[in-house]
Amino acid sequence: MTLYAEVAVHCPFPTWQTFTYRVPPDMEVRPGCLVYVPFGPRVLQGVVMEVGVPPYPDAKEIQSLVGDGPLILAHQLALARWLSRRYLTPLFQCLATMMPPGSQQRPLTYFVALGDGPADALSSRQRQVWEYVRARGRAETEEMKKALRMPQAGAVAASLVRKGLLACRYELARPRARPHLVPHVRLLVPAHEARQRAGLRLAGLIDLLAERGPLPLVEACSLLKLKRRHLRPLLEGGVIALEEVPVPRDPLAEIKAPPTAPPTLTSHQAEAAQAIAKALRSGRGGTFLLHGVTGSGKTEVYLAAIEEALRLGKGAIVLVPEISLTPQTVMRFAGRFPGQVTVFHSGLSLGEQFDVWHAVRKGERRVVIGTRSAIFLPMEALGLVVMDEEHEWAYKQQEPPPRYHARLVAQELCRLTSSVLVLGSATPAIESYHGARTGVYHLLRLPHRLHPDGRGGAVVASLPQVEVVDMRRELQEGNRGIFSRRLKEAMAEALEAGEQVILFLNRRGAASFVECFACGHVPACPGCQVAYVFHRVEGRLICHHCNRSRRIPPRCLACGENALRPVGIGTQRVEEEVGQIFPGVRTLRWDRDVTRHWTAHQRLLEAFIKGEAQVLVGTQMLAKGLDLPRVTVTGVVLADIGLYAPDFRSSERAFQVLEQVAGRAGRGPRGGRVIVQTYRPTHPALQALVHHDYEALYRQEMALRQTLRYPPFGELVRITVSHPNPREAAALATSLTSRLRQKALGRPIDVLGPAPAYPLRLRGRYRWHITIKGEDPNSVLTDLPPSRWWTVDVDPVGGA
Ligand code: ADP
Ligand code: ZN
Repeated sequence: MTLYAEVAVHCPFPTWQTFTYRVPPDMEVRPGCLVYVPFGPRVLQGVVMEVGVPPYPDAKEIQSLVGDGPLILAHQLALARWLSRRYLTPLFQCLATMMPPGSQQRPLTYFVALGDGPADALSSRQRQVWEYVRARGRAETEEMKKALRMPQAGAVAASLVRKGLLACRYELARPRARPHLVPHVRLLVPAHEARQRAGLRLAGLIDLLAERGPLPLVEACSLLKLKRRHLRPLLEGGVIALEEVPVPRDPLAEIKAPPTAPPTLTSHQAEAAQAIAKALRSGRGGTFLLHGVTGSGKTEVYLAAIEEALRLGKGAIVLVPEISLTPQTVMRFAGRFPGQVTVFHSGLSLGEQFDVWHAVRKGERRVVIGTRSAIFLPMEALGLVVMDEEHEWAYKQQEPPPRYHARLVAQELCRLTSSVLVLGSATPAIESYHGARTGVYHLLRLPHRLHPDGRGGAVVASLPQVEVVDMRRELQEGNRGIFSRRLKEAMAEALEAGEQVILFLNRRGAASFVECFACGHVPACPGCQVAYVFHRVEGRLICHHCNRSRRIPPRCLACGENALRPVGIGTQRVEEEVGQIFPGVRTLRWDRDVTRHWTAHQRLLEAFIKGEAQVLVGTQMLAKGLDLPRVTVTGVVLADIGLYAPDFRSSERAFQVLEQVAGRAGRGPRGGRVIVQTYRPTHPALQALVHHDYEALYRQEMALRQTLRYPPFGELVRITVSHPNPREAAALATSLTSRLRQKALGRPIDVLGPAPAYPLRLRGRYRWHITIKGEDPNSVLTDLPPSRWWTVDVDPVGGA
């Protein structure tokens, strides 16, 4: 009986469909196998989703099978289907996140030249393309488009195919990663026979091979001081052979983490660890939210949970927001579980990623620490997923699709595999805390910050003291600088005492809103409760959710003063000002522009820790888990910038970042204080910060979100329409919006916009946002065809 299989195909165009193929009688195809299938005139990669599906008339036959078994695990196939539905992304693209890195093969179209002269008159474009192809013999479409700067080059080439001047060929791009093969020497005959046949010079080699088995050629030669040509007689005589052996590239090979033993847990830690261990042993899974301030010992709880998972024969995936910045964390894990830990992130070479993937697939590594995409590694006996700093936005994928959030993926993965999920944070996402408060998650708390006491134990330490400085008063009293008198004094004291200072500047949202410098009022959209975005060119304020707009009022609507100004300060300006006030003090500037490569981050940090500078000026990166014991003063130059980013999560986000930045100060014995400058000292997020009161922030946010039906009381989907032509872009956005509005009729869903994106023009395209808000917004998108003119972002994070 003929078998049929459902295949997710790597199509050159986006599609929601899967396709049915016949399975050749002698081919052992199972779900999860990678195959090549005929598709129109091409042969493409595909992944088998299911075998034994109903026959399809005229189904084509699977051409060939790659490897000798499923590449994608059964639970991952289910996860891919979920991803595709949830994030409205073609199935193969979802599966691609789970394939060995660099093994995807893009379908390419080549054109080859036929004959040698144009038969009749060609247009200038046709002539250009024809000459390009003829000069090279063959040309790939995308390359040609770029080289000729002709976006229509593919269509032009197709017209030449119809004229018989070119022919079209289809191929797959080569995989970008492969096993790393190293030539090894191996014995082909028993050792005693080999010894007889080898001369005196090579006897040592035979002994070595007999003792240690196959050896890398280079190593064998250097150990015995041989040259390759010395081996020739034995190779030709069939005594030894050279063969290519795959050698895993191990990203932790260089890291020597001394083995460490677990400390005695504090009672809070032990309670948390036991609850998680119990869930692991039950085999039924569950989600925990571990709420504990920075330095409260969360990592020790993760380590205890992993230990239990390993004891049960299970593996663990540990997600961190940005691995490049936390080598200390990696060391801690590697030291606790020697030989079992590996890492996975974009800082690795493609080859390393490829080998880590295989090491996990084979079960050679059972603990992976990685960034968001590590959630897709093929861990067969998964038991535990840990997500540290679960509120971080780095967990949201932007490009390419699927635009997933790792927290939601982790939750689904754990549901599918009955694994335990542990979310950890000092400042949980409002949605996560809501989950814990409503009993969907189990809430675990670590209420105290710990300091190692130097004798293997820990003592309770206090949180830094936070002070809010009112910049309106500074202005009233004649201080027009960017530093308040309070901050200047504190800096002076610290510098005098030989201590260090951090100056933090939130960069998100800079110069995108206007604020009254007399009263701190920020004009905001009355419907969406987000700050209006200031559009300099039009001189207008525009809401980036619903497109409501108004001109800038001549006077502040709250206090009547003529003091509304666009807000924005750069790190460079801060650095200059420090130089003017404190001549001779050395300052380091840390932001994305200064440091592109992650090793540069490391160097910069080390320089600061060594005391090569007294002041560090930085952006969001300062919030990452750094330990800077000599810092006693942290200045937040202008908290308002983060608070009014055009996004309903801006208060939450500002609180999270500021709480973490505050956590940098006073980790050492000298304690520390945090000075927050603002024109809006009464802002609830700042008040919560002063008291380190997450609950207060939570209550405030929940009330706001409930009235406006923002998550967790509803969901958001954002569609970005973009087009090189500004009029086309706007027209497309308008027609798509009305179409969606039509579909939303009678459902508890609002379709807002279209509103201009910020910036409106990006990479040569004009962009508009449509926001769909309410209960199950995906439901109005079900029959939206995939298109190159719009992208869909389900549950977007970050500004408009
Ligand atoms: P978090 O992950 O919450 O930031 P850590 O686990 O890094 O906190 O703990 C903060 C500091 O306290 C670290 O230096 C850690 O080694 C130490 N520590 C944590 N738990 C204990 C313990 N039970 N005994 C001794 N030291 C501990
Ligand atoms: Zn609005």
